[in-house]
Amino acid sequence: MNILVQKYGGSSVADGQRLKAVARRIIRAKEAGYRVVAVVSAQGDTTDELLGKAKEISQSPPKRELDMLLSTGEQISIALLAMAIAEGGHGVISLTGAQGGICTDSLYTRAKILRVDPARVKKELYDERIVIVAGFQGINDLGDITTLGRGGSDTTAVALAAALDAAACEIYTDVDGVYTADPRLVQTARKLDEISHGEMLELASLGAGILQPRAVELAAAWGVTIHVRSSFSYSLGTLVKGDDLMEKQRVVSGVTRDMNVVKVMLVDVPDRPGVAHKIFSTLAADGINVDMIVQTTKQGPVTDLLFTICQDDYALTRRLIEQLRDELGIADVLYNDRLAKVSIVGAGMMSNPGVAAAMFGTLAENGINIEVISTSEIKVSCLIGADRVESAVKAIHDRFRLGEELPV
Ligand code: ADP
Ligand code: ASP
Ligand code: MG
Repeated sequence: MNILVQKYGGSSVADGQRLKAVARRIIRAKEAGYRVVAVVSAQGDTTDELLGKAKEISQSPPKRELDMLLSTGEQISIALLAMAIAEGGHGVISLTGAQGGICTDSLYTRAKILRVDPARVKKELYDERIVIVAGFQGINDLGDITTLGRGGSDTTAVALAAALDAAACEIYTDVDGVYTADPRLVQTARKLDEISHGEMLELASLGAGILQPRAVELAAAWGVTIHVRSSFSYSLGTLVKGDDLMEKQRVVSGVTRDMNVVKVMLVDVPDRPGVAHKIFSTLAADGINVDMIVQTTKQGPVTDLLFTICQDDYALTRRLIEQLRDELGIADVLYNDRLAKVSIVGAGMMSNPGVAAAMFGTLAENGINIEVISTSEIKVSCLIGADRVESAVKAIHDRFRLGEELPV
């Protein structure tokens, strides 16, 4: 079967008109000879609105119930889209994540897909139906609904593309591809024709909201090429793919910002084996992702330990750290949530010394102080004041001339 997986994001299905346009696009693919599986997100800002409703009731609702609530957004979209396609005279069926065979672990609100059982989807495709699957949701071993974290419909689409051995996986959104920076922030940002899985994973993890990082991770693991493109035009978008040979010519491929950062500073932590392990394993046990970590040496038997987490984990981290503070004898804990991270990503950095220095120089010229630096082979990140992050992204984008085409 020549299977095509398409994913339509929230803005692409925001209202009746757009849903009908999406239905026409799906029908067009079906008429071109594909068996089509379309994964859809909740309409427009529905997920945020549902989160707002939950907040009216409780500041920390049970996560299982939150998933029960959030998953309803996608269920509205699949039913409406299936109706629009049926209106066009085509065989169609909508399936929830559970019906689509998306089996996850039980980490409610950020569940991971353990396996995909594509039997039902395959049967429906075999029967010539267009299959519409609710993105962002799955089912755990208890039979409960789970959700995959914000932006999780991307991951549903890639998982289905891998499980169905699809000919292509298209992610339709409100911009026409992956750009050198968020095109809403940097007017001179340029669309990339191609980008490697590795670079895209870094960009997505460092704040480029265009794809959920886990979708890219999954695509890399399963060799799925993702075509990111606009649902408002038929122009080609960006191919996110395995071959990164070409990309190495580009020293820097993109600049990102991440506003979702809190810095935690543990002052005078006892300097003995096992302390860092105790702190970070406690955070990990509750699913808290720690990002930048810096340990500074001091005079005497203590050290300072600094790390960053995301805003969503702020309250829980505070609670866990307060418990550890007494247990380990940490002198003081300082938090700062007025920071943001600006990063550059590019496979070519590996063989081009001086890239990090050029980034630091640009920040210095703009009077921007760097709080923390972290690097890997293909990225450099700096923690700076949140109020300066926009100008930092623009200045760095200019400095590396990312708006210009590569010379041939
Ligand atoms: P969808 O609802 O379709 O999933 P998202 O809002 O999740 O759409 O992602 C699309 C948005 O990602 C764009 O509107 C754009 O502002 C943002 N974005 C951030 N960084 C980039 C980038 N480097 N390239 C393209 N878009 C980006
Ligand atoms: N509706 C979910 C969200 O807003 C999932 C998605 O759109 O991918 O995060
Ligand atoms: Mg998205």
